[in-house]
Amino acid sequence: YQPLAEIDPEVQNIIDKETWRQFTGLELIASENLTSLATMQANGSILTNKYSEGLPNARYYGGNEWIDELEILCRKRALQAFNLDPAKWGVNVQPYSGSTANFAALTALIQPQDRLMGLGLPDGGHLTHGYYTAKKKMTASSIYFQSFPYGIHGESNLINYDSLSSQARLFKPKLIICGASAYPRDWDYGRLRAIADEHGAFLMADIAHTSGLIAAGELNNPFDFCDVVTTTTHKTLRGPRAGLIFFRKDSQQAPDLEKRVNDAVFPACQGGPHNNTIAGVATALLQASQPTWKAYAKQVISNARTLADELVAQGYKLQTKGTDNHLVLWDLRPLKLTGSKLEKLCDLLGITINKNAVSGDASAQTPGGIRLGTSALTSRDMLEPDIKVVAGFLHRAVQLALLIQKESGSKLLKEFVAAASIEQEGKEGAKLV
Ligand code: PLP
Repeated sequence: YQPLAEIDPEVQNIIDKETWRQFTGLELIASENLTSLATMQANGSILTNKYSEGLPNARYYGGNEWIDELEILCRKRALQAFNLDPAKWGVNVQPYSGSTANFAALTALIQPQDRLMGLGLPDGGHLTHGYYTAKKKMTASSIYFQSFPYGIHGESNLINYDSLSSQARLFKPKLIICGASAYPRDWDYGRLRAIADEHGAFLMADIAHTSGLIAAGELNNPFDFCDVVTTTTHKTLRGPRAGLIFFRKDSQQAPDLEKRVNDAVFPACQGGPHNNTIAGVATALLQASQPTWKAYAKQVISNARTLADELVAQGYKLQTKGTDNHLVLWDLRPLKLTGSKLEKLCDLLGITINKNAVSGDASAQTPGGIRLGTSALTSRDMLEPDIKVVAGFLHRAVQLALLIQKESGSKLLKEFVAAASIEQEGKEGAKLV
């Protein structure tokens, strides 16, 4: 029962430094958020000690009375958070992450080497939606399945449903995946359902990024049209790092979807569930079901719109010219600046962002864009006026990056790095939690 600081001061020190970074910096990574203290307490609890392979009331280990209660509670809250009828929808809350949730969903829905279509990675899709390059099948979703990416329209940068429809007629997929990691606009799930139905294909939505906003009813509802919906729990949903798989119980195409999904999670893809994480997810879902959640989600979107408007007002180019959700995709190519450079510079300034491919980028290694998100800043109660200040910081960061680039400024940059590291030394009082 000795505390961490006594047993392992080295790890404690790293935690303190990261705590300091999170509390003093501006977190603008669209896939991140700041969980509540309650969620962290559940996630860091004694439940980590328990093995519980199987499902509630059907485990491969004894001693699971309370774990069963927890998993049933978590499932109930997951359905409540998304306003789902338990007679029509079920959920598996055991996936360790979004990637394992997606692979388990593919395992449940289609056979090895069957065909799937997902949004291409350079157009905003996720690795787990069938990504491969000309040289290599990079991900399990393209190694074990035949995949063909659909894309966004060259000019509007919106999902090109027309070309998806004609590509699907040629490719004849068994599964269409919608959802993205870097797409600032909402989805037309009805249109996707119609395309999937033409081929008797399943429709799966991966709402990892937007699930918190969907739970609040602030975006279109994929549950009205999809067979399976997966999500991570740690982005807009503000939970610990994990995944969920929702499945239709009333699917005519696959009346056994519940068994298929449950078997795909365990034993096909995973072992024992991480019960401490499931507890954290349950707490986060409780918070996402409160009336205050809607206000949070609305604010996330309003903050993202403010950020987009401010950047456009400064003359910058945004992909799709704005946003419907928590995310802004900033095209830096007109400035002749790479996303990697701005990301590095912003790290030194205490602003955390990530480089991201924008439509038509030649290289994924040195992409021409930046992805920004407002979920974490909104969790810190920031409102539109605060976001305007943040947009001003980003503008100044770009000006600085351009200046450094113009002066071909290794000297200037070195001086700047030195000054920034001195400041980091003064991190006393880092124990903020
Ligand atoms: N799906 C989407 C759309 C994502 O954006 C991500 C991660 O960013 C994932 C799945 C994978 O989630 P995880 O990192 O938890 O495996």
